[in-house]
Amino acid sequence: MINVTRSSMPPFEEYCEEIRGLWDSRWLTNMGEKHQALEQALRDYLGCDYLALHTNGHLALENLLEAFGLKGEIITTPFTFASTTHAIVRCGCTPVFADIDPVSFTLDPKKIEEKITEKTAAILPVHVYGRLCDVDAIAAIGKKHGIPVIYDAAHAFGVFRNGVSSAAFGDAAMFSFHATKVFHSIEGGLAVCRNGETLRRLNDLKNFGIHGPEEVPYVGGNAKMNEFCAAMGLCNLRHLEEEIGKRRRVVEHYRARLEGAAGLQLSPDQEGVRSNNAYFPVVFDGFRLDRDQVFARLAEKGVNTRKYFYPLTNSFACYAGKPGFDPAETPVAAHVADRVLTLPLYADLSGEDVDRICDIILK
Ligand SMILES: *Cc1c(COP(=O)(O)O)cnc(C)c1O
Repeated sequence: MINVTRSSMPPFEEYCEEIRGLWDSRWLTNMGEKHQALEQALRDYLGCDYLALHTNGHLALENLLEAFGLKGEIITTPFTFASTTHAIVRCGCTPVFADIDPVSFTLDPKKIEEKITEKTAAILPVHVYGRLCDVDAIAAIGKKHGIPVIYDAAHAFGVFRNGVSSAAFGDAAMFSFHATKVFHSIEGGLAVCRNGETLRRLNDLKNFGIHGPEEVPYVGGNAKMNEFCAAMGLCNLRHLEEEIGKRRRVVEHYRARLEGAAGLQLSPDQEGVRSNNAYFPVVFDGFRLDRDQVFARLAEKGVNTRKYFYPLTNSFACYAGKPGFDPAETPVAAHVADRVLTLPLYADLSGEDVDRICDIILK
């Protein structure tokens, strides 16, 4: 059986060495030594001074929306994981869905602009599959209308454009360090912002809104990363470039086998962008079989793929009947969501396995 993903792991001994000191310090969470070391390593790697580790990416995103004090409408994409839309709703804001670009699968800047009203509080685009949004056009829209741009960069850790990390785009960004992501800390997340005031708020919000022993300025929750997760992050960060390189080999193998096949749309590289090779999406459009049939054939032969992202978040049952939640209003996203499949992709997926998967699809 071939799974759609497989978590990367550092050498066992390396992780044991990393956590050994915790048996002496007995300091297991609450911004301990590993937490501080990982934040410093991430500042260096991302080239960003203001960042806060979190329990997971979702809570990092909720805390960012809260720290920006957003009220009203947030323009976003339905072609994303449940987390993005839920974070907006759980923070008391209203998602306004704009459509995506058919090639990059990210928000179409022209469609964003059409949705701006006096109620618009922010734009929340998502970098999908390790490919970047049209960050320049989106920055220009945010600036023109005086609204912040907050990126869901859960898929984009390790992505660079002309040497600049994905963390540098927008007024803020969230990364997920979940076990299934290219870089992970078992569970974990990161909020990146641009100034000390926002960072102070984020750090308070992730610790019950407590600023000091006798000072509680915010109604915060608990989203602190523990030392064991931070230690896993420290180890995995040392192996990240190797991980991305191995994934690249898998992606190139898939491309060599599938490029040019009738009815298959693959994702091209973006100019000047070093992807992290997080996912390998294929759109089955005019292929002999439809997406669901390909999914079923592969599953019969022990190959797990994922209909990612399907269904669109604007068609979730929990939002049924709410105004603005209608996949027909985002026809490009609806078209892609009905036809896309992400193929198995992880660092040690063998060439023979990639060939087997491609043979099943092509035959
Ligand atoms: C994984 C993911 C999240 C949530 O991150 P967690 O760390 O799992 O909470 C949010 N958005 C997108 C696009 C994701 O893929």
